[in-house]
Amino acid sequence: MIKKIKMITFDLDDTLWDNKPTITNAEVETRKWIEDRVGKINWGDLNDFLILREDLIKKDPSIAWDISKLRVEIFKEKIKEFVSKQECESIAKNAFDFFLKKRHEIRLFLGVEDALSKLSKNYYLGVLTNGNADIKKLDIGKYFQFSISSLEAQDSKPNRSHFDMAKSHIPNLKFNEMLHIGDHQVNDIYGADTLGINVLWFNNNKALWQQNFNKPDEFANWEDLTEIIGNKYEPR
Ligand SMILES: [Mg+2]
Repeated sequence: MIKKIKMITFDLDDTLWDNKPTITNAEVETRKWIEDRVGKINWGDLNDFLILREDLIKKDPSIAWDISKLRVEIFKEKIKEFVSKQECESIAKNAFDFFLKKRHEIRLFLGVEDALSKLSKNYYLGVLTNGNADIKKLDIGKYFQFSISSLEAQDSKPNRSHFDMAKSHIPNLKFNEMLHIGDHQVNDIYGADTLGINVLWFNNNKALWQQNFNKPDEFANWEDLTEIIGNKYEPR
């Protein structure tokens, strides 16, 4: 029997675009921007970052889901010994604004715009992201009725807050009338599937399924998406 869905929600990073080149570029450019003002900085490696992140979360638990605040606090930590307290605040804030601008310089996967344009005619579309990209800053924002970030959900996927908030956008909507699409096996697929939301896994790099529940339907190419959804969810 064909299941009827009314709402489709999408993850952003690594689902609508390849996030690594975007973030790497934003990171490199922002470090340059800061060093132009402060001088050479020892940025440390990933391990240093993780330790610093843990410390900051201990002082302020909201840092765990407020990744924008996390970034500002890390900038402050890195520059505080070189500048006055006041400069530290303002440079960190301006550096973050610069970073956020660069972070929106994305290149959509082939077929994304076309698929969203078509799907938006038949479904209520939403964004559920753990990141700080804002869909409304992008041209494709016009296809979405709503967008929920971790900041708004005050939690991160796979926890249910994002999904509950999405569901509340249509009165009496049931989880099984929703479809969530994302690349992350846990944050997107496990999180949504646990609630009874239909799922499609975006897997464009031939990743192996590593969860201890059945692999859902997957797709690797956005140009196939409307047809997959049509076959699965639309009576003909
Ligand atoms: Mg993702």
